Amino acid sequence: MTIDQYNFNGKKAIVRVDFNVPLDENGKITDDTRIRGALPTLKKILADGGSLIIMSHMGKPKGKVNPKMSLSQIKDTVAQYLGTEVEFADDCAKAAQQAAELKPGQVLLLENLRFHPEEEGKPVGIDKEDPAYDAAKKEMKERQKEFAKTLASYADVYVNDAFGTAHRRHASTAVIADYFDKDSKMLGYLMEKEVNAVDAILKDIKRPFTAIMGGSKVSTKIGIIENLMDKVDNLILCGGMTYTFAAAKGGKVGKSICETDKFDLALDIIKKAEEKGVNLVLGTDCVAADDFSNDANTMVVSCMDVPAEWEGVDAGPVTREMFADAIRDAKTILWNGPAGVFEFDNFAGGSRAIADAIVEATEKGAFSLVGGGDSVACINKFGLADKVSYVSTGGGALLEAIEGKELPGIAAIRGSEK
Ligand code: AMP
Repeated sequence: MTIDQYNFNGKKAIVRVDFNVPLDENGKITDDTRIRGALPTLKKILADGGSLIIMSHMGKPKGKVNPKMSLSQIKDTVAQYLGTEVEFADDCAKAAQQAAELKPGQVLLLENLRFHPEEEGKPVGIDKEDPAYDAAKKEMKERQKEFAKTLASYADVYVNDAFGTAHRRHASTAVIADYFDKDSKMLGYLMEKEVNAVDAILKDIKRPFTAIMGGSKVSTKIGIIENLMDKVDNLILCGGMTYTFAAAKGGKVGKSICETDKFDLALDIIKKAEEKGVNLVLGTDCVAADDFSNDANTMVVSCMDVPAEWEGVDAGPVTREMFADAIRDAKTILWNGPAGVFEFDNFAGGSRAIADAIVEATEKGAFSLVGGGDSVACINKFGLADKVSYVSTGGGALLEAIEGKELPGIAAIRGSEK
């Protein structure tokens, strides 16, 4: 069932959103992107003549009530965006009465799901090493089912629009789906967009496919690199991991970021790329700095020969051209992780060259997905977010999806593919 196929007229819909927005010390929202992201789904339900029960987590209250993480703080903003009043349920597990009284067009916002440990389903106050842990975990899983069943009892239909938590098997993101038949559960619009974007780079690949992996360390990206190795034509590895590769090949990298225990891994990646016929693009020259600051002195050197007191902080001019060449004619592009310390304007040139080439390819019809933490900040810094095909909102969820892992929040609705 898709959200567009469903008519919510006269139905009560319980919708899992990600309203985990940042708040200042006075409880004021500092960035409401996540609320705006869920609006198309929420508005469709109201426009159809349905009533809405909205549920979300906020922060990490660890199973306890914490007023600083109360969703009551965002109630008025949600009401403003929806253009209608919003009721509030102080305890998400005791909202049956309020849910039952909802009329078409009315909205009920539930209090933070994570005030109940059952939401995450992890036993609290007991160490993993404790012999009683397994029994406690089993008991908590049962309680989680009950909690999910209670939430499910409020509504006729379940919609999951929280991609940011799709990689978690929580009561509201996955377990709850068991209490709805297949025609009464679906993904929301935001979630559909994310899933389609991931499908475009993992399943419906148009070639050539270029993936750009950057950031600080190879160790945190290895799962993704391995999964992509079977799919891509060009693999650009950039950012801090450049120097682990250079050092592994016998280069001198000065004070550059370098994972000395990952040399074997780096050499193995080079070998695998050769075996699989993947064009692996590694930087040859870099911008080196004599200090980790925007005002540092800089010079362009070989990645294999960074002077002792200097560190590589960005891709050099020859490297930028190589990267752009591998991107410009691609038909599918994935970008995760910057090519340098882009937070400093003077070291953002390599990332900018990548962003510009992605925009050029997108204009020529390529599908480009930018996602996962810092690359989103990077594309926003350049003001180019609306010139790529899709900027993902899901950090951990996106990375796990690209690693090829099945996301519980999606499998709960679509069925497992494995
Ligand atoms: P990650 O979270 O692994 O994607 O890493 C992102 C971070 O990597 C950003 O904050 C960048 O500043 C940083 N980064 C990129 N290139 C380098 C580099 N050459 N040296 C140090 N940090 C880098």
